[in-house]
Parts: sequence; C-alpha cells; structure tokens
Amino acid sequence: MTDLHADSPIRFIKGVGPVRASLFAELGLQTVGDLLEYFPFRHETEYGDLEIADLRPGIVATVRGEVRRVRGRWPSFSAEIADGSASCWLRWFDQRYGGQGICVGSVLIATGKVQEYQDRLEIVHPRTSVFALDDELPPLAKPRQVGVYRGTDRLKSPTIRGTILTLLREPHLPIVDTLPPHFRQKRKLLGREAAIRALHEPRDAAAVEQARRRLAYEEFLLLELAMALRRYRTVQLHRGHKLPTTPEIDKRIRARFPFSLTAAQNKVIREIVFDLESGHPMSRLLQGDVGSGKTVVALYACLLAIANGRQATLMAPTEVLAQQHYRNVSRYLEGSRVRWSLLRGGMPAAERRAALRAIERGETELVIGTHALLQRDVNFKKLALVVVDEQHKFGVLQRAGMRTKGLIPHYLVMTATPIPRTLAMTVFGDLDVSVLDASPPGRGLTSTRVVEARQWGPLMADLRRRLENGERAYVVCPIIGADAENGETALPQDDGARKPSELTSVLEMHRRLTRGPWQGLDVGLLHGGCLADEQQATIAAFSDGRLHALVATTVIEVGVDVPEATLVVVEHAERFGLSQLHQLRGRVGRGDRDSQCILISHRRNQIARQRLATMVETTDGFKIAEADLRLRGPGELFGTRQHGLPELRIGNLIDDFTLLDHAREDAFEIVSRDPQLKQPEHAALLPALKRTYGGKLALIDAG
Ligand code: ADP
Ligand code: MG
Repeated sequence: MTDLHADSPIRFIKGVGPVRASLFAELGLQTVGDLLEYFPFRHETEYGDLEIADLRPGIVATVRGEVRRVRGRWPSFSAEIADGSASCWLRWFDQRYGGQGICVGSVLIATGKVQEYQDRLEIVHPRTSVFALDDELPPLAKPRQVGVYRGTDRLKSPTIRGTILTLLREPHLPIVDTLPPHFRQKRKLLGREAAIRALHEPRDAAAVEQARRRLAYEEFLLLELAMALRRYRTVQLHRGHKLPTTPEIDKRIRARFPFSLTAAQNKVIREIVFDLESGHPMSRLLQGDVGSGKTVVALYACLLAIANGRQATLMAPTEVLAQQHYRNVSRYLEGSRVRWSLLRGGMPAAERRAALRAIERGETELVIGTHALLQRDVNFKKLALVVVDEQHKFGVLQRAGMRTKGLIPHYLVMTATPIPRTLAMTVFGDLDVSVLDASPPGRGLTSTRVVEARQWGPLMADLRRRLENGERAYVVCPIIGADAENGETALPQDDGARKPSELTSVLEMHRRLTRGPWQGLDVGLLHGGCLADEQQATIAAFSDGRLHALVATTVIEVGVDVPEATLVVVEHAERFGLSQLHQLRGRVGRGDRDSQCILISHRRNQIARQRLATMVETTDGFKIAEADLRLRGPGELFGTRQHGLPELRIGNLIDDFTLLDHAREDAFEIVSRDPQLKQPEHAALLPALKRTYGGKLALIDAG
C-alpha cells in the first residue's frame, strides 16, 4: 500500500474487498480520508487483565483461568473458569464456530463485557483464546480505550475499528495539518495526525480528551474563519454611508421621545453611532429583552440617517407587527418634518404605486413594512439603514435582499430572545453584538408560579375576581383547534409526547372558560387562522379594555404590546420551550402594575418540573436561554429547527465554550492579517474551509 492519498478508495486498505467497500459506502465512507475522519461516537474502557474477584458488572475486561466445569454442548455452551481469586462463567449461545478445545483443565483468556446473571458474574460471547495447562501464556493485557463506531447491521463497530487500525499501521498517512503552527503552540494543541490517531486508538481517557479538544478547536476555527471572512466581505471591503452626528442632531432626535433614554439605551446608541460614522457598513445585532426599548434605539438610528438626508427602513416579521411599529413611530414622529409610510399587504394598487414612487424619489424617508413586502419590489433612492426586527425568530438573515443603488446600507438586526453567547458567536458570528441589559424604569414586577392542571377550576375562579377588578389576562394554548392544527402547534418536545388531539386547543379553552368559570366575561379569541385585520381588531379591543381576556396561540408571543395586561396563563406550559415561555411572560409586566405568569402543567415528571422551575427561579432571559440550550440543544432552542446553525461533529457549544472563544479570537486575528488566506502558514485553511462549507457561505472568494 504505497502512495496512499486522502482520496484513495477504501479498498486499497488490506482486508477490504469490494463487498466490504460497498458496506462502508453505505455509511458514506468511500476514501481513506473519509475513514480517517470517521471518529468513534464514544469510547469504552477495556480494563485489560483483571483477577476474577475484581470483576464488576458492566465493565469490559480480560480474565484468564483454568476451566473447572463445562455445561451444555456447542453451540450453546458455558464454561466456569477460576484463577485462584474467584471463578466466573463464560457463555455462548448459538455460536457457529469456535469452542474447540475448551474442556476441563484447559486455560482460557477471555475478553468481554461482564454481566450479572442469577447472582453470579458471567461474560457472554467473550473473545477467547484456548491454551493447554503448560502452554506459555501471552503477557497481561493493559487497560485501554476502545472506540465505538456507528455502524450498520452488516458492518459493525469492531469491523470498522479493525479496518481503521489496519490503516493506522501505515507509516505515512495522508493527513495535512490545517492549523497554523503559531496558534497550535499558543493553544497547546496536538498535531492533526496525532489527534486523529489518538481518537481511533487512544492510550487512555486523557488522550481521548486531548485529541477531541484539538479537533474541536479546528472545527470552531473553520466556523469562525467563515464568520470572519463574511464579516470582512460585508464590512471591511465595502464603503458604507457616512452618517455623522452633531450635538444639535442628537438633541433634535432625543426631543422626539417623551422620556429620557436609559443608560443601557445610551450605551447601545453610542455603539451604533460609532458604526454609522465609520464609513463602513454596520452589521450589528441588537439583543434586548422584550420591552427593553430596542425599537426606540432603532428609531434613533433611523432618524440619524434621515438627518443626513438618507432613507431608512424598518422591517417586521408580520403584518400585525409592522402596523404596531407604524403606530408607535407615528406617535413619536407626530409634528416632525420626517416623512414616513407603511407598506401594507392589502394596499389598493394605486395607493401602493404612489407609495412606491415616493420611496423611489426619496420623498419618503422612513418606510415600515414586512420583510416580504420590502424585499419584493421596492427601490430606494438613497437607502442608508435597514433595521430588521427579527424578534425571536432568528435565522435566515436576508441581507442580500434589499434593492438599492450605490453604497451598501447599514444593518441593524433586533432580536428579543436573548441568545446565549456561544450561539450568537456561531449563528451571528459575523455581526457585532449590542445588548440592552436593563429595562426602562417604572415597570411592575412579574411573579411566576406553576399550577397543576387539576387546580384549573379554583385558579380560574380566582382569576375571575381579578378580571372583575379591572385586570386583563392572556390565556395561551398550544394549538388552535380541531380543524386548524397547523403552523402554530408548539413542538411536541415533551418526553411522554402527547398527540395534539389530547391538548387543550384555543377554541376548546374559549368554550370551557366562557361556559364555565368566566361565564359572562368578555373573552376574545386570537390565532393565526384569523385574518390580519381581525387580529388587529381583537388586539385593539383587548388594548382598549373592551375585552377582559384574550385566549390565544403563540401569535401573541411576538410583540403584542398591551401595558394594562397583568396576567398571563400558559396552558400545557411543559409543551413550550423555555425561551418561548419567557417571550410569553414578557407580554405582561409592561406597565407599572405588578403582574403574574401562571404556568399550567399537565406533567409531573422530573424533567418537566425542572424546566418549569427555571422559569419560577429567574426572569433573566440570558439565564433562561442558557438553560434551554443545555436542556434541548441549539437546534430546538427557538421552538423550530433553525436554519443557519452549523453542524458540529466534534465541538460542543455548551462544554467547549472557552475553546470556541479562543478559536474566534484566533480566526479574526488571522483574517485581519491575511484576509485572502494567502500566506504559507494559512495554506491549508482555504481547502479545509471549502471542504467544510463549500459554496454554502459564499465566502471563499473573499478578497
Ligand atoms: P422593545 O422593542 O425592546 O420591545 P420598545 O422600544 O418597544 O421595546 O419599548 C417598550 C416600551 O417602553 C414602549 O412603550 C416604549 O415607549 C417604552 N420605553 C422605551 N424606552 C423608554 C425609556 N427610556 N423610558 C421610558 N419608557 C421607555
Ligand atoms: Mg419591539
């Protein structure tokens, strides 16, 4: 086997014929390179030679001893061996081969998993060698780590491992070290070949961890390089609108708000203004809990763009939210010279044409609408700032979608769901991050409690008294109703998953309440099955106090803003992600009165309780998001499988936090020094990036 290349077919390896090669192909493994990087998904400790008295159930060990008794007949057969410390049984069922030579008095060396059966220890189907009493025995086996590989019915882990170990006997493996030596030393990491060898054939558990760390770092470095390159492309490489400010402009903008901005808002505004003045396009993520005042910050930025004679746009994820933004903005801008407009979905054609023309001519300075609308057929004359109100649905950032002439506009993406830092670094790794970490003063407190479903009657009777005293409540259910179970279903993420039909729907809840404990009260219905105008009217009725309560799906999760609402009841709370519950809780506590969040639980198992307990213990959105990340993993964090999450094979966003941090720092350093990755020490990075991300991130031609 000379001249082994990474792309040599697997059948070049000794012992791999066409049949086995086709079995490997079923696992997607075609080449030597594929096989080298097919890592065990876990390692098992083999304890090596132990005295029989030291065996414990569950471990894999080797024992040697003299056969005392045999039972049964091949192929179902057992033998008792003893080594002076104790004795144990070895058992075989239905074995086609082997067993020859095992008789009382022979000596066996047997390796396998120790099990307990009827009060005695035994090893089933051990790997066995048979010796005569006076044979010379091989040396004692030492403890070792054995990789366990994901296999198939016809290609099991030991065979995969055997093939890989055969390959590793090659003196020259086709492995190129990707990491620049400088960073390998700085971070004290193994070479790539050493790490790959160690993962397949580790000395001990510490060696596994060392190897894993090295490969995880590499994975993170490539990911962060992709981020750094994308950032380089959008920010460094382009010129953006220079939007300088003056004390006069600042004063004029602030005068639009009937309150003074909080310290947190001022800090974030400074960060944004710095970007807007820089001459490079801004790419910034603004994180802030619901109600922390993000929209006000965004409007400040829009007004700075407008003060510089440019246009700005505010994109909302839904029609209802766009309208809400429009109303808020109108309140702040009333009586100013700024010209703003709302692009609505159902606009009459003539009105729409006129609106588009005003935008094209640059007469409208601030345009509000949904993402979908604004990206379709709007041509701006001098668009300098795009604010994307992503709310909690993050993911697809359609930054390329805007049609504009000339310079690249500044981007500000707002999200109301606190994103744990590790996740922000991976998903939004090419953006700068600003955090609004304090809410405006004068808000009431929100307390949270978990109520068991069987307490429903007394709970609702109690809440009725509050509603009669002028409080307002949201009641949230996971699904709409029998014929409308679509889109809005909370994910069935609960361990004993119930069918949707067993969940209380919005329609059913409305019926139960209005015929039962809330009979005679005005209770509205809100869900995604209603038209936008209907939704709007219902929210308005609730907002005006014409409704005591609103029974709703999670449509209210995004942005519905009624400061007078003080109660939120979440039915089947265990069905929702923590971050989602946090959003729902954020619907109350927006005014100056104290509020209550009541989580109705239908499950009494440990995990469900623990999750809901997190909600009771903290109102800190970042802590909740971290807990959610731990409990459910990054893919589920935001209630739907998200687009844009990297697939990590080795690194772990929770446990390898520091490593990710380091890799990010290093990646940005590399790109700042060598944005085209042309220096010799970076030579291996570009092919590795291409292999990992291919055309997906469209960043390889950076520079
Ligand atoms: P977010 O977009 O983060 O949910 P908003 O900007 O919509 O928050 O603000 C939430 C509410 O708080 C709004 O009613 C807004 O008028 C009010 N608000 C924002 N900033 C302040 C402030 N500095 N002082 C008092 N109220 C504020
Ligand atoms: Mg908002």
